Amino acid sequence: MTLKKREVKTLTEKITEERDRILKNFSDEDRERYFVKTEDRPDEVDQASTEYERAQMLRFRNRDLFYVKKLQKALEKINSEDYGVCEDCGATIKFERLLARPTAELCIACKDEAEREELGNFIGRQSKSLGKTVTLA
Ligand SMILES: [Zn+2]
Repeated sequence: MTLKKREVKTLTEKITEERDRILKNFSDEDRERYFVKTEDRPDEVDQASTEYERAQMLRFRNRDLFYVKKLQKALEKINSEDYGVCEDCGATIKFERLLARPTAELCIACKDEAEREELGNFIGRQSKSLGKTVTLA
């Protein structure tokens, strides 16, 4: 990898901060959402909305948890040769990009390509559901 020591230090601090910030949110959520007594919400409608809320919270938690895992993985990788190298084409990921997104595993070119493919699929689905052809400008 081509990162300077100072850059690695900056990124390590950033990742650690980000991880700790999310983990801190976890414990707040636990207190507010997960220790609500069930007998406080007796009727079926409330019960359903509680379950919906819980499902929503779980989704957010899972997303956060996923991100925390990625941050953790980045921290473990950061001092190795693998960090900051595109998993797709092997190019060096620029420090500026890593600073904006320390968990980046693709270089900007590969990321752009992946996003274009995603967008293409999205437009494809949309035009199908509208029953007409969408022309890209
Ligand atoms: Zn790449």
